Amino acid sequence: MTIAQRTAIRLSDGRELIYFDETDGHDRNAWPDKRDLPTPPAASQLRHDPLVDEWVAVAAHRQTRTFLPPSDKCPLCPSTPEFSTEIPAPDYDVVTFENQFPSFSARVHPDEIASVTDLVPVRPGTGRCEVVCFTSDHNSSFGALTPARVRTVVDVLADRTASLSELPGVEQVFPFENRGIEIGVTLSHPHGQIYAYPMVTPRTRLMLNAAAKHHRATGNSLYADVLAAERASGDRVIASNEHWTAYVPAAARWPFEVHVAPHRRRPDIPALSGPERDAFAPLYLDVLRRFDALFDKPMPYISAWHQAVTGEGRDLGYLHLQLFSIRRAADKLKYLAGSESAMGAFINDIVPEKAAQLLKNL
Ligand SMILES: [Zn+2]
Repeated sequence: MTIAQRTAIRLSDGRELIYFDETDGHDRNAWPDKRDLPTPPAASQLRHDPLVDEWVAVAAHRQTRTFLPPSDKCPLCPSTPEFSTEIPAPDYDVVTFENQFPSFSARVHPDEIASVTDLVPVRPGTGRCEVVCFTSDHNSSFGALTPARVRTVVDVLADRTASLSELPGVEQVFPFENRGIEIGVTLSHPHGQIYAYPMVTPRTRLMLNAAAKHHRATGNSLYADVLAAERASGDRVIASNEHWTAYVPAAARWPFEVHVAPHRRRPDIPALSGPERDAFAPLYLDVLRRFDALFDKPMPYISAWHQAVTGEGRDLGYLHLQLFSIRRAADKLKYLAGSESAMGAFINDIVPEKAAQLLKNL
């Protein structure tokens, strides 16, 4: 399936919501948002940590966000006559809207940006944070979507990546899904998020530095070489098709971690061809099925799309999805403790080849 009709509306507090319908003929403007919402909060602050040369976003207002509401008060379900949610219509296929409690937004109030010390520059957290609802079915999950719906979601992420990349100051667009209360999900309705950052994130900067070094030494794309080596070896490949390969990285940090990468080098989701978008759906659904089958219960996971940055270093990017879980055994979670949290040094309790074997056999 793909997008047949795209309708952008404004919620009562001015935030944008977009309906992506798989069929046409919907009058989405017939359902205005009737809620009396407060003015959305101002953008967060970015403070520069001089000790590690990284920007940290400080968003005080996020402490008040909705936390695990009962299912009849879910803000991501369609609205009913009894309860108005974030989505005014009584049904939808896929919708995106600006987060009510965003880490980054265009609502900058310059007076509120105070300086801290000469060594800690502060700037507004301009950018945008969006929510993506994959289905109106509260009790579903991404892994239970049809391949046709997954294709629609990929098209939606392509639409949003292209739009958000054009916003002033946006340097990187990051679509992701957090799944499971173990990960810290505050709403159980199947949904993802998109962060449009006003800076290059620390992890991406490390990846760009490594890719630049490899390119200077060999003239090649680092990710393309890594992917080619994994495909040639096959030791850690768990599934593949004509356009995509899913494999456990040789130096995986997490107990169960899989990369899903297109065979052709693409900078971002908008650059994927129609056949590539179609082929992604069954492969990714297969990987999610294997994740849930590992311990015969829903796997908590983070699913993260790594896309090329919008500015300098864009030519070094190679689109791929990183899926990982903190579950290391049926009743055990991996916590980021001393070594990981304080030193950034990961210690993985499961050998990547063993993890790949377990996932391959399911
Ligand atoms: Zn819901």
